[in-house]
Amino acid sequence: MNILVLNCGSSSLKFQIIETDLPLIETDADMQRAKGIIERIGSQALITFEASGKSPVKQAVPLRDHRAALDFVVRWIISPEAAIPGIRSLADIHAIGHRVVHGAEKFTRSVIISDEVINGIEDCIDLAPLHNPANLKGIHAALELFGTGIPQVAVFDTSFHSTMPEKSFLYAIPYQLYRRHKIRRYGFHGTSHRYVGYRYRQLMHIEREQTNIITLHLGNGCSACAIKKGESVDTSMGLTPLEGLVMGTRSGDIDPSIIEYLMHKEGMGIGEIDTLLNKQSGLLGLSGLTNDMRDLIDEEREHQDRRAKLTIEIFCQRVKKYIGSYLAELNGADALVFTGGIGENSPTIRKRICEGLEWLGIEMDESLNAEMRAGKEGEVQKQSSRVKILVIPTNEELLIARDTVRCVKDAPRRW
Ligand code: AMP
Repeated sequence: MNILVLNCGSSSLKFQIIETDLPLIETDADMQRAKGIIERIGSQALITFEASGKSPVKQAVPLRDHRAALDFVVRWIISPEAAIPGIRSLADIHAIGHRVVHGAEKFTRSVIISDEVINGIEDCIDLAPLHNPANLKGIHAALELFGTGIPQVAVFDTSFHSTMPEKSFLYAIPYQLYRRHKIRRYGFHGTSHRYVGYRYRQLMHIEREQTNIITLHLGNGCSACAIKKGESVDTSMGLTPLEGLVMGTRSGDIDPSIIEYLMHKEGMGIGEIDTLLNKQSGLLGLSGLTNDMRDLIDEEREHQDRRAKLTIEIFCQRVKKYIGSYLAELNGADALVFTGGIGENSPTIRKRICEGLEWLGIEMDESLNAEMRAGKEGEVQKQSSRVKILVIPTNEELLIARDTVRCVKDAPRRW
């Protein structure tokens, strides 16, 4: 089956075409056929399309909304210029998988999209006011373009974490607030944590129940996940993706009293503080320079910039704290797995996170670590290390495509 995977943001649309099916999943023979991104939807949009094995095509085109963007994508996919094997018309796309950020307690697994599911995703908008409306735009655009004849599936960022026990997901605030408003930890990046957990068990030739690891998704957004017997038992993001690790522009954990203090001291409104914590904090806020870890590393190295150095130290220290607490919670773990833009590509950051953790049995091999970048997958620990350290490039789109096939064929979802 040819699956169109869609990931819609407020002004962006990312897509992939993945050829997959139950036998292909079984043998890991499913293939990405094309991918692309449209940014700045609503004005002069920037488009990058890439058919597998060919050079990327870039152009700028005015695109009014997500419907116009999807229309543009589909016209390219079926064009002779893209020449994607097996795809010549709309009928050659057999199903669509959508990334949906928040499924709250309602969606604990991927589902075929129906009117009821759309209503359910709308009900979760309060919990993800930036993300779920954008995801819904993608779903509505696809329904308009493809009609109801082609199955569409929603894959939720939160669902992998639905196995967390109450002791992990409840906040220590009055219990009735959980009952009344469902205020609790949900966790995000679930598809990424689930994928690298699955790859880990494949690489180790072990069963799901034997998977006891800590996964670290370090990208522009960052989160850690404690996985026990293959299931998420704790994660660092919370009710929203603001909690936990230091991120590109998000603060991660802070004392909640800072909010009221800022209101008094800076005369800020609650909306401004929300923007400050989500968009102006993290690496950007601390360094005053950039939200991009590559630039911070360069600044530190080339100009000995003190704030850049401090920012990197704070970023790594926060990750260390979560590793420590999850090791305690899991009663030890067999591996740390790094993924995401920083986790996959930055030997420096991985090294600085693991430094000083030797007494916990976490010993990194510096030369193996230095080689592991740009899409490579493998182990980077010393032979004597009790805990393995792995780098596994994430592939959320592949998992979305596979879940889409499993839902359409009503096959059991194993991961
Ligand atoms: P993601 O959100 O997973 O796509 O990650 C994007 C982020 O990864 C960028 O904003 C950078 O901060 C970071 N990144 C990508 N490549 C590198 C690298 N070679 N070294 C350090 N950070 C990187």
